[in-house]
Amino acid sequence: MDDYKEELRRQSEREEIRYRRELAIRRRKARTRRTIFLAALVFILIAAAAAIIIVSARRTSPGEPDAPDSPEEPEAGNNPDTIAVPDWVTVDLLPVNEYSRPGTALEQVNGVVVHYVGNPNTTAKQNRNYFANLAQTHETSASSHFLIGLDGEVIQCVPLNEWSYCSNSRNADTIAIECCHPDESGEFTKETYDSLIKLLKWLCDTYSLDREDIIRHYDVTGKICPKWYVDHPEDWEALLDDVGAPSNPDKADGADTVEDEDKDEGDRSGGFLSGLLDGLK
Ligand SMILES: [Zn+2]
Repeated sequence: MDDYKEELRRQSEREEIRYRRELAIRRRKARTRRTIFLAALVFILIAAAAAIIIVSARRTSPGEPDAPDSPEEPEAGNNPDTIAVPDWVTVDLLPVNEYSRPGTALEQVNGVVVHYVGNPNTTAKQNRNYFANLAQTHETSASSHFLIGLDGEVIQCVPLNEWSYCSNSRNADTIAIECCHPDESGEFTKETYDSLIKLLKWLCDTYSLDREDIIRHYDVTGKICPKWYVDHPEDWEALLDDVGAPSNPDKADGADTVEDEDKDEGDRSGGFLSGLLDGLK
């Protein structure tokens, strides 16, 4: 009987040991699972924090091309398409065509070139229509941004931010003005002259131009245009005095050298009207 009791006691001890061992194993497993769970949680939190930092850094980065609040590209040159001409200018634009209004962008205005139409006693409107008709006649390539008539009327033919075909090598960075005149001398009427001064003042203010930036077609190519002011250089200086733009001596030399080889070039230059408008008289 004692043996039997002893056997039962040992069995009970063995079961208790087995139970404790299993309990210990279960606790260890539970601890491992908890550790893995915590590690995973920490990893997820770190990953989420990193993602938030990267996304917000991209949003605030100014150089990022795709960023929604990246600043606008700065406007090239000094000639945005927002400049409006004064109300004393009649806007009567030429149709876009390769002979008088090529539609080429004029991004930077560095000067104004003054011309005479070369065909006495024609009106600003007649000269404007001559430019427009070049689209059909293909006679030559010619135009100017502005035409000033014998009565001082000012017609705009080409938008300020496009090339006109008037001033040869300076088409790319100047505004061109053609002036009508009553006779072969090329002298302007008082009305034409006054409108020219007013227009030059406005252009100098608008584009921050200096006295030296106002030039004759003659100063670009050596062409006798505008004839009166090539024949009478002292009157040209008086005209510049009347405009009153500030002088910048740095621009006086070398900037606008005369290119004699271009003298007789009719295409895409001024003075093209000589003889061509005779039928209008
Ligand atoms: Zn000219």
